[in-house]
Amino acid sequence: TLVIFYLFVPGVVQGVYGTSEGPAKLLKSADNCRKSLFRSTGKKKYRDNWLKCIRKYGLIYSRYPVSEQAPWAMFRAAGLLSGLYAYSGRSKDLDRAIHLYQQLLRKYKGHRLADDGHCRLGQIYYKYEKDLIKARGELLEVCKRYPSGDMRPKAESLLNRISGELRRKRKPRNRISIRANKKRIAVKNIRHWSAPNYTRVVIDLDGPVKYSHHLLDADPQHGKPRRIYLDLNNACISPQIGSPVLITGNLVNQVRIGRYKRNTVRVVLDMLDGGSSKVFHLYSPFRIVVDIRGKQKVSTPVCGIRAKTVVIDSGHGGKDPGCTLGKTKEKDINFEIAKYLAKKLKQQADLKVFLTRTRDDFVPLEQRTAFANTKKADLFISLHTNIDKDRKKRGLETYYLNVTTNPDSMMVAARENASTEKGIGELQLILQKLMLNHNIQESKRLAHDVQKAMVSQLSAKHRGVRDLGVKYAPFYVLIGAEMPAILIETGFISNPIDRKHLLSQGYQRDLADGICSGMLYYLSRAKLDCIYH
Ligand SMILES: [Zn+2]
Repeated sequence: TLVIFYLFVPGVVQGVYGTSEGPAKLLKSADNCRKSLFRSTGKKKYRDNWLKCIRKYGLIYSRYPVSEQAPWAMFRAAGLLSGLYAYSGRSKDLDRAIHLYQQLLRKYKGHRLADDGHCRLGQIYYKYEKDLIKARGELLEVCKRYPSGDMRPKAESLLNRISGELRRKRKPRNRISIRANKKRIAVKNIRHWSAPNYTRVVIDLDGPVKYSHHLLDADPQHGKPRRIYLDLNNACISPQIGSPVLITGNLVNQVRIGRYKRNTVRVVLDMLDGGSSKVFHLYSPFRIVVDIRGKQKVSTPVCGIRAKTVVIDSGHGGKDPGCTLGKTKEKDINFEIAKYLAKKLKQQADLKVFLTRTRDDFVPLEQRTAFANTKKADLFISLHTNIDKDRKKRGLETYYLNVTTNPDSMMVAARENASTEKGIGELQLILQKLMLNHNIQESKRLAHDVQKAMVSQLSAKHRGVRDLGVKYAPFYVLIGAEMPAILIETGFISNPIDRKHLLSQGYQRDLADGICSGMLYYLSRAKLDCIYH
């Protein structure tokens, strides 16, 4: 079959037997095509003109592969393709050029164009592919294999340049890798709050870490107490932290912190007593919260004869203005209403009133809840204002803590938590898992009482009061609250009517009056429940 094949493919037969006029003529024509292309900048702008010449060369090396013209044709076609790439920017053109140079080196080993081929490949890898290592490989071939070739000076000068660039690149790379190793997340601080039956420990870090937490039973044989430990991955301990951190209260004796493995920091809470623990984390800045509650269940908070305690949380403060619009800052409105509310509540003989902040101070969210818990508060009221892109949106709404599927409620929670909506998703999972909201029914009741009283108080005196009702969403500031806890969005500062209301002292006072009567109504109902149950 081979014989027949050769007989019927005249070009190949000619090619096999070398110097026919065919390929020589074709090469001349292709070279003319190339020359006229290079002479005219106008022609070079059109892809077709390039392809026409490339095809002419292609005809030679495919039809007469063993002719002496074939390697030249292949070399020049490759040159045209890389030239075309400079105009077209199509990586396909460059790939074809590289492929042709490689084919040339493979097919015509030892040809006098071989060093040119390596050199061109080196230039392409250097200039277009930015691959210094590959470029160096090709250029070294030129110097080693063709030391007396005409390409050597060119290759050497490019090699020198590449070596310099590689040296410069290597230095910062080393520095980066050292930094990457060192870039562990530092444990910056341990904060804690305690009441007899409650302790909250917060681990402050300078970035998010992956962590796990475990509970170990007491080991009397080795004199070890019951303990909770957390392993923080890729973390380190900031030098200013002293260990152990001694904790007051009945639940936790101390917190110890140490390097467990090379990259792992272990935080251990030595427990004094049995109790349940909840662990969750908050963002910006990242911190891990450990809540511990004693075994004995407190009776329904509002029962009993002792004076009731309420904590009023005026949202945001200090460096955190809350939502802002022009000069209007949420933190200021919240604070004004909180002051009126506190004043009003203090008029009740059997109420103790605390504010989470008494000035324009920044107070972290987890500290506000912890404050209410350590004060053994019976009610927790967090005051906020809303904002929306839609200026028409207005009205007041009251929230209690629960997972939600409502996108609007999620947005509100995301903003108040200073987190992303992704953060909210994570928080919902935590809530579902931990069921932290054991006061959910009472909180819901409180929310309805307060919302109703607020709306009726305000509508009697002001126009355009809109009732948006009671809602629920996962707010950080409500997580872990030991008492019925709600968050009130008193209105939208983005809406002209609401904004005017919220900035007027009269409205602020009436709002506080409404919240106050809602709270008192709730407390009186709860008292009745205590008597009749
Ligand atoms: Zn707020």
